[in-house]
Amino acid sequence: MINPFQSKQITCPVCLEISEISVLISEVFGKYFPVTHEKDQYVSQWKWTDEQWQHINPYLYSIVMCPKCYYSNFIDSFTDKQKSTTKRQMRYLKEKLNEISGFEKDLIRKIAEVFLASQTDHSHETAVMGMILTIFYQRMIMERKDFAISYTLPGRLYLRLSWLYREQFANGQKDENNQCAVTPIVSDMLDTLRNFHSLNKQIETQIKTMNEESSEQVYTIVLFLEEATKRLAEKTEEILSHIDSARGQAGDERSAIIKKSYTLWNWLPKNEAQAVAMAADCFVQAANNDYEISEKGACKILELAAYLYAKIGNKEGSNNCLRQIINLCYNQRMNLMKKLQKNTSIAQKSDIELEVKRLNTYIEDITYQYKYEENQQSDNFPSADA
Ligand SMILES: [Zn+2]
Repeated sequence: MINPFQSKQITCPVCLEISEISVLISEVFGKYFPVTHEKDQYVSQWKWTDEQWQHINPYLYSIVMCPKCYYSNFIDSFTDKQKSTTKRQMRYLKEKLNEISGFEKDLIRKIAEVFLASQTDHSHETAVMGMILTIFYQRMIMERKDFAISYTLPGRLYLRLSWLYREQFANGQKDENNQCAVTPIVSDMLDTLRNFHSLNKQIETQIKTMNEESSEQVYTIVLFLEEATKRLAEKTEEILSHIDSARGQAGDERSAIIKKSYTLWNWLPKNEAQAVAMAADCFVQAANNDYEISEKGACKILELAAYLYAKIGNKEGSNNCLRQIINLCYNQRMNLMKKLQKNTSIAQKSDIELEVKRLNTYIEDITYQYKYEENQQSDNFPSADA
């Protein structure tokens, strides 16, 4: 194989423009494969059939970005064959992105420029940037409560981000979590200013419904406030850059951009444990709310969430998931039993019996895990029947 990167034509679901970009060859072509799988699907080692590409880590290339509008996501979302719900979400996102201004717009542009400049040469930092921007877009879509939102995608994104952090940490890069105590306060200030900006925009659209004389007066005030907010935001930004340079950790451009995203988007997980926690929360939401997920699928996704919670020491979260799985299974078993009592053919009957058998084994398995977790939790407390 001459080049593991291939030129690919993509259609952006947001701006609908067609672009030519470089993407890493897909795993399905068998040019590389996982050597080991962890329980959360993380692959700690990949094997390339062609030795010369062994240094390429596929995880660094999972996100694709539109060079025109900077929308980013996994490659399979870059298609002109979108479901109508997705189309609606994308139109909404386009509108919201047009409203973004000032420092936030600036940050998005910086992330995109660095990301797009290294399409075939991503570092962990550029991969993290791509993931951050992708999560930012998904969060924007999720703000609209009336969309039928899937929590599976954000869960996958947070999980991927946690893997990137894990590898970054293993490579000896420093934890970005050590902030100056003032930084979160300034972040909150920026957050408030951003909210203010969006409220201002809302007034602006409402003004049109007022009579002409009073609308003109309000409009003058809105413009004045807009200008004042902009200057306040700039000054707040300045405070931040002073804090950073005073602490002597300006670093290179990439880590400066990542640090800036942490400041501006303070909901962002900054280390592996935080990202794992957010992934697990999303998966629980998905199991409970995503209407496309079957009961069986919900069990699988809850099992993953239980594993993730246990991994970061959140035993209560883990136990809640396991309990939920057991309940779901009891439900499924009851429904199967009801079916058995109806008049069914022998073939159907044996199918159902097989399924009940599978469920019983599964319930036993999960109950065992649940009891194990419980015991872990009560290590310091001798149990009553001991
Ligand atoms: Zn685009």
